[in-house]
Amino acid sequence: MKADHFEQQKLLALADEDVALTQLAHRRRTLPEVAAVEAAAEAERRFAEAEVRAETEVRDLDREQKRLEADVDTVRQRAARDQSRIDSGSATAKEITSLQSELQSLARRQSDLEDQVLEFMERRETADAALVAAQEGRAQAAAERERAEQLRDDALADIADSTARHEAARAEVAAGLSAPLLALYDRVKAQTGATGAAVLKARQCQGCRIELNGRELAAVRNADPHEVVRCENCGRILVRTAESGL
Ligand SMILES: [Zn+2]
Repeated sequence: MKADHFEQQKLLALADEDVALTQLAHRRRTLPEVAAVEAAAEAERRFAEAEVRAETEVRDLDREQKRLEADVDTVRQRAARDQSRIDSGSATAKEITSLQSELQSLARRQSDLEDQVLEFMERRETADAALVAAQEGRAQAAAERERAEQLRDDALADIADSTARHEAARAEVAAGLSAPLLALYDRVKAQTGATGAAVLKARQCQGCRIELNGRELAAVRNADPHEVVRCENCGRILVRTAESGL
């Protein structure tokens, strides 16, 4: 294939744009801001789960404590009734003995229940503290996620801007190339996965960094300046300049 020697030089500008676009695509894929958003969102989820667990615990303890307090009331009322029966003076000696024995067991029961209420109150305090910690943690993680999202969006917008700029620059260069040369460049680019052309500098293909051997060098040296020559190693179009070492 033949293409004007000066037109071939433009392939280097095209390759530069492709390198820039590849780097931008890589940056978008590996953006640390994306990982930061995911980490913050994960922390937020964990705190939200802890919050639900703490809320459930607080509700359960409240219910249990109310039940215990009701039991304490029942025992107190029963004891008061027994006591007023004794105080009324109308009970027989046998009844009084039985009532006094019941009062003793009611007192033990009440004391047990009150101990349990205290224990529940302590557990409730612990659960309350856990709930507050989970709520605060979640709020903090949410704020952190929002901050990370903003940073990620800024970075993505920056990448989108640069990409648009380089795409426009590439289109401008491509518009100055003949269709067959551009088609060849694009075909080679698809094969290398990077660029379709490279400069030959000091006898070395700058695409694959392999130095041309004597036979290849002679072939390139003897080729017409308008002939399109390619690297035998990587397949790129070799663009010859004054620095090619020919
Ligand atoms: Zn090469």
